[in-house]
Amino acid sequence: MNNITYSFGTDQLLQVLSLSKNATAVYTTENIIIQTANDAMLAFWGKDRSIIGKPLEEGVPELKGQPFTKMLQKVLKTGITDSGVSIPAETFINGKLQTRYYDYEYRAIKNEAGETYCILHTADDVTERVLGLAALNKAKAQQEALEREQILNEELATANEELNAINEELQDSQQNLALLNAELEERVKIRTKALTESEAKMRYMLTDAPIAIAVFTGKNLIIESANKKVLEVYGKTAEIIGKPLQEAIPELAGQDFLPILEDVFKTGNPFYGNEIKAMLEQNGVIEEVYSNFVYQPLKNSYGQTTSIMLVANVITEQVLARKRVERAEEMLRFSIEAANVGTWFLDLKTRAFLPSLRMNEMYGFYPDEIVSYDAIINQIPAEHRKMIEIAIDKAITEGSSYQVEHPVIDFHNQQLRWVRASGKLNSDDHGDPVYFSGIVIDITEQKQDEQRKNDFIGMVSHELKTPLTSLSAYIQMLHAKAGKTEDTATTNALNKANKQVKKMGNMINGFLDVSRLESGKISLNKQTFNLDELVAATIEETKLMQPGHNLIFFPCDPTRINADYDKIGNVISNLLSNATKYSAKGSTITIKCDVIDNEAHISVQDEGIGIKAQDMEKLFDRYYRVESNHTISGFGIGLYLSAEIIKRHNGRIWVESDIEKGSIFNFTVPTI
Ligand code: ADP
Repeated sequence: MNNITYSFGTDQLLQVLSLSKNATAVYTTENIIIQTANDAMLAFWGKDRSIIGKPLEEGVPELKGQPFTKMLQKVLKTGITDSGVSIPAETFINGKLQTRYYDYEYRAIKNEAGETYCILHTADDVTERVLGLAALNKAKAQQEALEREQILNEELATANEELNAINEELQDSQQNLALLNAELEERVKIRTKALTESEAKMRYMLTDAPIAIAVFTGKNLIIESANKKVLEVYGKTAEIIGKPLQEAIPELAGQDFLPILEDVFKTGNPFYGNEIKAMLEQNGVIEEVYSNFVYQPLKNSYGQTTSIMLVANVITEQVLARKRVERAEEMLRFSIEAANVGTWFLDLKTRAFLPSLRMNEMYGFYPDEIVSYDAIINQIPAEHRKMIEIAIDKAITEGSSYQVEHPVIDFHNQQLRWVRASGKLNSDDHGDPVYFSGIVIDITEQKQDEQRKNDFIGMVSHELKTPLTSLSAYIQMLHAKAGKTEDTATTNALNKANKQVKKMGNMINGFLDVSRLESGKISLNKQTFNLDELVAATIEETKLMQPGHNLIFFPCDPTRINADYDKIGNVISNLLSNATKYSAKGSTITIKCDVIDNEAHISVQDEGIGIKAQDMEKLFDRYYRVESNHTISGFGIGLYLSAEIIKRHNGRIWVESDIEKGSIFNFTVPTI
């Protein structure tokens, strides 16, 4: 082709455009004058060429009311090209108003000054595409709906199956339910029966309860119900039921109960009485009745008190018993105070020690001072402590009681005082020892009296010895003289006088020994000698001094001991003398000597009056004499001295006896 340039006029250009297969139109001015429209465009509108040169809405009047004129005016004004895809437009095609779809472009065509002077409208009829797509979408939607329906159907079928199964189960469970119902009914029947029984039991229990129960109704306190115990406490019969309380129990007048009941009624608050005394008729007599009780208001659904329930526990016996104990305790406390006795208590588990105020004072502490057990023990002089500890230990192990006398050094002023302390181990119900308790008495004055008496006895005995010694010397002298003149009568009389003087000397020596012993002045003058020989010699002397008995001696082998010769001699002599004193003349006295395990055992057996069991343990106490023996002279110091002497030789002394048959006095001393 030649390279020739053509210059097209507007009409020519429009001519060319009109030949384009693509639908094309050109609009100018605000009225959107159809400058040109090719056949394709005219076909879209369903119009012919006659509309060219007319405004769009005039040429294609059905476009009125559709947005296109406005859209075109906007492009003309703004110069911004507008385009769209699948836009519907309604036009008359083949005389029929149809909706068709278009892809379009309104292209703003500008001059050199940049002003839009016309719009190039191109459009493709895409109705087939749009409708095809719509049909496709519809078919797809239908397909999906179909699928959904299918799934739903399947689910429905499954649900149906499940429903059937459930239905079957339901039927089963309905049957079970029926069975269960029957069972339940049976159980309810049994339960009701049990309930009725238990209700009856309950009623019976309340009626016979050891607790007093009554209900008073209304302001007049009508006795609506009252169990046996209430009737018993009121001392009335069931006839009082139905009567007002005041009338039924007239003795309540003037006592606190009716006003309290009135108050409970008014306030609706319960009243609790603790250990309250009531004066009620018991066996026809008005007596004290103590009880713990409650007046419980019973209310209706509006919260108003309609009646009052009385529940009371009668405790008269307990209260009276406690009062008796309190009285006894008071009396005991009074006696303890009056007797000036100190008391103490020692808990064996906790070691808590509780001395009374008086006890504190006795050991020299202030009454309100806190004093321990050890502090008390510390106030006892060391030489006495051991003896007390032994006594207490013995009481603990044997569960017995103990009694000791011992000096005490006053804690604050160091003064010496004497006390007699006794204690006892106390056990619980199982016999396990739980506490130790005891009393302490101040015996200082008694001790001082004794001391004075001992001093006096000692002094008198000592003074009596001097004249007795000279008396004895004169008797000896006269005896010698009478012997020379062969004055038998005088000799005999002087012999008897000598015997009596000797007896008296023995007595005085005995008193002297007691007074020495008491003041701790007795001392042992030990030497080694043969005990068997001493026993034999003492027997001979007794035969001489107190003839008339049949003394038999079963000697032992020569037995060496280290002891006070005179004092052991006194012991043997005293036992022999008692054996003769307390048995009939002509009866036998058997003396035995045995040696067993480094111990010499001497026994003196008589066929005399014997000793009662209750006296046996006291025989060795100072000045103790068996009561009925008063016709036989004596002071009750022989056995006391003998026991002290044997103890000091680390020996033992004891008695076995049968009343009316005789006694055996025994003692032991260690051999060497
Ligand atoms: P007494 O001087 O009274 O004999 P003792 O101390 O020797 O004093 O004895 C104390 C008491 O023991 C006596 O009073 C007597 O009652 C009793 N007694 C002692 N020996 C015998 C005995 N062999 N038989 C019976 N009673 C005895």
